[in-house]
Amino acid sequence: MKNDKLKRNELPTFAPDCFPSGALVTDPSRIITYVNAYFTTELLWQSGELIGKSADILFTQSSRIFFQSYLIPTLLHEKVCEEMQLIIFNAQGQRIPITVNASISKDGCIYWSFFNASKRDQLYEELIKTREELEEQAEQLKSLASTDELTSLLNRREMKYRSTLVLEQAARSRQSIALLILDIDHFKKINDTFGHLEGDNVLKQLGQLLKAFGRQTDLISRFGGEEFLLMLPDTSKSDTLLFCQRLHKLIKQIKVGDSALKASIGVSISTDKVSFTDLFSQADNALYKAKTLGRNRTEVYVKN
Ligand code: GH3
Ligand code: MG
Ligand code: MG
Repeated sequence: MKNDKLKRNELPTFAPDCFPSGALVTDPSRIITYVNAYFTTELLWQSGELIGKSADILFTQSSRIFFQSYLIPTLLHEKVCEEMQLIIFNAQGQRIPITVNASISKDGCIYWSFFNASKRDQLYEELIKTREELEEQAEQLKSLASTDELTSLLNRREMKYRSTLVLEQAARSRQSIALLILDIDHFKKINDTFGHLEGDNVLKQLGQLLKAFGRQTDLISRFGGEEFLLMLPDTSKSDTLLFCQRLHKLIKQIKVGDSALKASIGVSISTDKVSFTDLFSQADNALYKAKTLGRNRTEVYVKN
């Protein structure tokens, strides 16, 4: 074969035209003295358009500044400069991201190698987009795992977790804290009379009402079935009772057929360090009392 006959270090004459990267030489006054065929085949410049011109015609404004302020000083100091990210124009004025290596010779000429970095930039953008999508999905998953599907309130697990944190905080700052269990009265009858879908609708409406009614710092959850659990940090007994009074009035605004919705509330107030389980069973105790005393009322747990 013809190529086999080539001696070592002897390049075929067409070789510089075959490199899949740009080669450029500029003299000490930045005038282009050589470009390889890559500038014609890939960047669409005619060599006549570049030879004898200032290299500035290739570079964007920011790349020129970079050239002047970083590349030249680095080359003078280090003799080589590697993997710089610049943007150049092709002959049609399109911006092409490139990775550049450059070295400077003793006579001050700069030898440049250009590698098209469009694919890398595209990959990088895809990577960023994918990461953003993953972050969004992770957010959604987190929200799904912590909220009740029907009402969008906190679910049981999240409520337990957050309540425990709030209780620890309250114990440290010796705040009074209230736990409310709100249970819809005769909800089974609503389902039986109007159907399960209407029952769901009532739960949704109550969920929205509780969300709008509570403070930012209150924890509001659907704890299961027709039972809602609310934790009111930094709230005294009298404030809690006022809160419940207003709540009973609001709940009545939800209509089921011709009747107003009603609920019973069991309250437990803590001023000392207490576990979530203990506070919950106290509130449950009070709820039981509210149910037995005729429903549609609030009862507060009192220690016997
Ligand atoms: P009480 O006044 O004593 O609380 O009576 P109640 O009928 O409200 O309580 P009970 O525990 O007897 O019935 C609760 C009903 O809630 C039974 C159950 O089918 C219904 N329920 C639980 N979860 C859902 C739900 O997600 N959607 C609907 N529509 N109903 C539910
Ligand atoms: Mg119940
Ligand atoms: Mg009930």
